[in-house]
Amino acid sequence: MGLFSRNKPKIKVQSTKKDGYSGWVKCTHCNEMVHANELQQNLHCCPKCNYHYRLSATQRIQLLADAETFKEMFTEYKPVDPLQFVDTESYVNRLENARKNSNRDEGAMVGHCQITGKQVALAVLDFSFMAGSMGSVVGERLTSIIEYAIAKKLPLIIVSASGGARMQESALSLMQMAKTSAALAKLHERGIPYISVMTNPTTGGVTASFASLGDVIIAEPDALIGFAGPRVVEQTIRQKLPPGAQRSEFLLERGMIDCIVNRHQLKEKLFQLLELLTGNEREYQEPSSYRVLYGQSLGKLPQKLQELLALAETK
Ligand SMILES: [Zn+2]
Repeated sequence: MGLFSRNKPKIKVQSTKKDGYSGWVKCTHCNEMVHANELQQNLHCCPKCNYHYRLSATQRIQLLADAETFKEMFTEYKPVDPLQFVDTESYVNRLENARKNSNRDEGAMVGHCQITGKQVALAVLDFSFMAGSMGSVVGERLTSIIEYAIAKKLPLIIVSASGGARMQESALSLMQMAKTSAALAKLHERGIPYISVMTNPTTGGVTASFASLGDVIIAEPDALIGFAGPRVVEQTIRQKLPPGAQRSEFLLERGMIDCIVNRHQLKEKLFQLLELLTGNEREYQEPSSYRVLYGQSLGKLPQKLQELLALAETK
C-alpha cells in the first residue's frame, strides 16, 4: 500500500469556471486535454492514448454484469481491529476514513451475476478502499464466494486491483493468501473454471496468491503487476529496472499472463472464455470485435483456447 502513490497517474478535474474549461482533465499519461464526460463515456480510458484509469468496484460490476443481475453477498463480514494496530494513525481511524472516502464498507465486493446471460460468481477488489488491500474481510469474502462457486458449480471471475497485504492486520492479512489459494485449489479439483483479471495495479500478496492462480489470466493494458513495486525492487537490487518492467505487455512476453484485453472488449472476451471453459462450444461464435492486443502461445491451456487466442492474434 502506498508504494505506488508517487507515480500513479491521477485525473485532476479543473473545477474552476473562470476560464470556461470546467470539466476538462489532463491525462497524466499523454498530457492531452480530455473532457471528463468523454472519459466517462469511454469507460474511463483516455480517448487519446487508451490509458486505462482505475474503476471502482461498482463501475467494474456495471461494466461486466448484465444490468440488475448482480446480487452482492457476504456483506455480513465487517472489518475489526483485533491487533489494535496504530502506525501514524490508528487502524480504526483508517477504516473509518476509507469508508467515508470510498463509500464502500470494505475492499472487495463479491456476488452472483450474469455475464451475457451466463451465471457466474464475481468478485471485484476496490482500490479506493485502503488500496484494495487484502485484510481478513477481503480474504473471507473471496473465500466465501469461491466456496459458493464450488457449491453452485459456477464459473468464477475475480477482478483484482490491489496494493497487496493489509499491513494493519499483519499475519491475519497474510493468512488470507493461503486461505484463498486453498479454496481455489478445491475449485480447481472440481474442474470449475476460474478467470483472473488483473487491473492496474495488482501487486503484493494478491499477485502472490489468488490473482495468479486463474485458469486464464487476463490483464488490462499497461497495468502494473508485480510483487514488490518498482521503486522497492530498484532500491533492493540497486539497479534500474528495464523500461516497462512489471507492466502487462512485458509480463505477457514472459508468460506470466495469458492475454491483454482492452476494457471495451473485456465483457465479450469473458463471455467467450466462459463459453469455451464451460463446454458450450456449440453456441460459441467466431470472435468478431474483441481484440487481444498482444498474443502469445499458451502452453497450459487446452487446444481449443489456444486456437481462439491464436485467431485473435491475427486480427
Ligand atoms: Zn491519455
